Amino acid sequence: MHMPEKGRSWPEVKADLIGRGGNDAKWRDGRTAVYVFNAGEDIAEIQKEAYAAYMSENGLGPLAFPSLAQMEKDVISMALGLLHGPKGSTGSMTSGGTDSITMAVKTARDYARSKGRATERANVVLPQSAHLAFDKACHLMDIEVRRIPVKTDGSYEADAIAMGEACDADTVVMVGSAPNFPHGIIDPISALGSVAEEKGVWLHVDACVGGYIAPFARMNGVPVPDFDFEVPAVQSMSADLHKFGYAAKGASTVLFRTEELYSHMPFDLACWSGAPMKTPTLAGTRPGGAISAAWAVMNYLGVEGYRRLQGTVCETRQRIQDGVEALGFEVLGNPLLSLIAFRHPDHHAFAIYGEIYRRGWFTSVTKEPPSLHLMLSPKHAEVVDEYLADLAESLKTVAEGKAGEKVEARYS
Ligand SMILES: *Cc1c(COP(=O)(O)O)cnc(C)c1O
Repeated sequence: MHMPEKGRSWPEVKADLIGRGGNDAKWRDGRTAVYVFNAGEDIAEIQKEAYAAYMSENGLGPLAFPSLAQMEKDVISMALGLLHGPKGSTGSMTSGGTDSITMAVKTARDYARSKGRATERANVVLPQSAHLAFDKACHLMDIEVRRIPVKTDGSYEADAIAMGEACDADTVVMVGSAPNFPHGIIDPISALGSVAEEKGVWLHVDACVGGYIAPFARMNGVPVPDFDFEVPAVQSMSADLHKFGYAAKGASTVLFRTEELYSHMPFDLACWSGAPMKTPTLAGTRPGGAISAAWAVMNYLGVEGYRRLQGTVCETRQRIQDGVEALGFEVLGNPLLSLIAFRHPDHHAFAIYGEIYRRGWFTSVTKEPPSLHLMLSPKHAEVVDEYLADLAESLKTVAEGKAGEKVEARYS
């Protein structure tokens, strides 16, 4: 597209704009189980109105916009309240999980260096199931990544012992996920905590996907193991508001056990011609709307609202779990929250993926082991039967050797 010489009217541009979504994944009707978190029309409206209310304001300027500074503080203290942050714990809002993870790794590295450790090349120790955002962060900072296979006992949990053995004097952080994305399994954070303590290594819990669902699932009676600051060795956490916090996109939280740990995060250097500019996270300009929308949704829902929505999500996962097992699929490990991955003993998951895709479902896959993958939102409660019927048809098509052309499942 060349920029038009003369602009067009807004009604014309708007019609064009909306029309462009015509070939996008159909998420409004619940047929997409990745990327979008559909908690209903009321939440969508609040996200938009609350975002628009502070869309022009900039989180870079807390002195100009004390409103945003206070909303961010409120969001962080609500987060710490849910995740057992002790007195003195603190954090910041970021643009997303990748940003939160990058800042946590950077903070852990700088903390280690402040103690005279990892002065040459730092390393981090991760379970193989941890998110690629850690590798991206480490690539940016020239940190070595040590990925350790998960347990082979069918639990898909991080192997705390093997991870401990992979730590050395240059290890700046060890990671557990709550839950991990590929399998939806919560790593044994207490066991990782014991190892981290023994080795004197910082433990980060990546609760990007679970941070705002696990606490409510637990209140609803789901047996969620200890995964947050309740485990004494956990020094930092990442938790995405734009996933199961149902906030507008561009909102996550990175949290630290103490002010002293946090103090290694902000960038505060005055070596330029401009006025001093202290930034807590990677971003300079920070969209005010992402802060106000998160604040508004959290206040609109409250504990009661989140418990209701997350109850629906967990029930939906259980219905899917029962349904796929009835079809002969094997569910990986023991998922407790919103993610589920499953495979069939006789037919390759990726062939089944192609068939369910052709039936209008935009879902995902896990590579190790090859499995179908779903990330469920409240909206999916309405389409469980439809999904299971299409899955049964897809399985039948594959079993009869009638599968169509291969469809490659990729994120991008
Ligand atoms: C989504 C996710 C991330 C990355 O978050 P983005 O917001 O996509 O950058 C990291 N870890 C886990 C477990 C996730 O599910």
